[in-house]
This record gives sequence, structure tokens and C-alpha cells, in this order.
Amino acid sequence: MKKILLIQTGGTIAMSAKGDGVELDPEAWSNLLYKEFPELEELAQIDTYPLFFEDSSDLNSSHWVNLANCIDSNYEKYNGFVILHGTDTMAYTASALSFALQNLAKPVIFTGSQVPMSSIRSDARRNLINAIEMATTPIQEVAICFNDHVYRANRATKLSIGDFDAFGSPNIPPIAEIGLNIQLNVQPKKILPPFENRAKFSNKIFVCTVHPSLNTSYLDCLDLSKLDAIIVRAFGSGNFPMKGEFNLLPFFEKCRDQGVIVAMVSQADFDAVDLSKYPAGRSAIKAGAVSGRDMTLEAALTKLMYLTAQETSKSEVEKLFQENLAGELTPH
Ligand code: ASP
Repeated sequence: MKKILLIQTGGTIAMSAKGDGVELDPEAWSNLLYKEFPELEELAQIDTYPLFFEDSSDLNSSHWVNLANCIDSNYEKYNGFVILHGTDTMAYTASALSFALQNLAKPVIFTGSQVPMSSIRSDARRNLINAIEMATTPIQEVAICFNDHVYRANRATKLSIGDFDAFGSPNIPPIAEIGLNIQLNVQPKKILPPFENRAKFSNKIFVCTVHPSLNTSYLDCLDLSKLDAIIVRAFGSGNFPMKGEFNLLPFFEKCRDQGVIVAMVSQADFDAVDLSKYPAGRSAIKAGAVSGRDMTLEAALTKLMYLTAQETSKSEVEKLFQENLAGELTPH
């Protein structure tokens, strides 16, 4: 029987109803797990590890490092890992790990729920059982298992607040679909170099959402000496205002002159940024911006946090950002 490590980090799945809302409830969770779902033991030999209990909105890169270290120190002992996590920042944590856990040969499956495990209409049971089953398959990457689908971590994003079908991977099909049968769309990797944990992240990245009437004087208040990179969530294929007081180009040029990377992603979930298409994109290229193509915001942010924390130059980070490192972008 396969051995799975089930790591708890918190989220709604570990909460209980309190008044009109829900609250973290670590004790209730650990009692519930085996009492309510003894059949989990039919799927695998499961050890549990309560790493932390947080609403995922309170997680940051130090938690990602803890989680990567936990997987690293247990890597040889288990066939797969399931991480219970809040849905709000699950795609960020999972993307971060997809870059940090190099040459992964085992499944690292994130799941959670929209409704606490202790509630009668919870989606936790189904998500947990599916995730454990997926952690026994030949998946060799970090993935999110939710509502009968498995998504590549660095392609996934939270799409719905209220639907059980909370996640999607807009630019690639799911890596598995769980119905009467399990349809697994993965190829075993060729012989891999040894697994390596490179969890180290910079917190010096800022995300700027472009919108009509964005007051550029706010951007001038940023202390660029404290930043490694700015991610610009542009319109459509990489567009932004270029006229009058709202022109963003001078800001991008200032970033370039001060050694701050400018990376463009789109506010649209589907398809890819194409900076060659419109004058704005072409000007952005001239001002030194790089394209995130079809990367999610979560992937682009965690990739830059990861790359800028490694011992590399700005130009190397810019080059690697535009390359496919862990399945996060579709090559040209
Ligand atoms: N606020 C919760 C969290 O992300 C939401 C959830 O788990 O669905 O921790």
C-alpha cells in the first residue's frame, strides 16, 4: 500500500461554523478526519502532519518555505503528499512549490474545501478522498485537486467564490478528470536528476493593476530601490494607457533605469499576452518590459519571487521568466 503524508495548513476545510460565519478549529478537524472518514485507510497508509493552521490569506513566503522543507525532509519516506490548504491563496502556494521543488518525481496534491469538513453539505470529503487517491498515482508534479478535477498548480487559479467548482486552469486542460473512471493525462518523466528543494523567495515584487484613470503619481511614490520587479496586470494582450497624464511608459522607463524588472501579465484569464500586437505592447518592449505570455498572475508572481531570490543577474531572471521552467507557460 502507498504511503501518503497528509499535511494540514488550515483553510475552510479545517474550520467550523461559528455564528453566521466560520472559524479555524484545529481540534475538531483532527477528531473528524478518522472518525468521519475511516475509509481513507482503504486508499493508502496515511500519516498526518499538522504544520500550521491558518486562514490562507495569512500565509506568506515563509510558510511556503516551511511547507517545502516539510516535503523535503519526508520525501524519501512517502510515495506522495496531500496538502490541505485554504482556497484563497492555494494557487499561490502551489505555484511557489512548483518552482521550488525541482525534479519532483512524486505527486504533491493540494486540496481544500468551500464548506468546512464538519458541515453536512461539505465538499471536503470528496476533495480529500480524490486528493489522496491522486497522491497514489504517477503524477510527478505539484497539482490542485478540486471538485473532481486535477489542475497543474502553476496553471490554476481560483475562479469562483461560491461554487464547489472553485478552480480552473484556463490555458491548459486539467491533468486529470475524476468521474466513474479516472482519466489521467500525464506522461511519466524521463529519468530525473535528484530531487532538490530550492525554496527561497524574495518579497520584493509589487503587482500593479492597470485601470482607466490610474493616477501615475501614486506609482511615483514607490521606492524602486526596495523592489526587484513589478508585475503589471495589463488590459487584454498587454495594453495600458499611453496618453497624457495617464501614460504609464515613463514609469516603465524609470523602472528600467533603476534596475527593476517590469513583467506584463493580462487581466484576462484566457489566452496569452502578445506585446508585439499593439503600439502599447511594442513600446513596453522598448522600455525593457518582458512578457508573462499565458502565465497566471499566481505563477508569474511566485516565479519572480523564486527567480529573484536565487543567485542570478537581472538579465538572467528576465530570460528565465520568459522560459517554461515547470509547465507554467506555453512555449512559442
Ligand atoms: N479564507 C479561506 C482560506 O483561504 C477560504 C477557503 O479555504 O476556502 O483559508
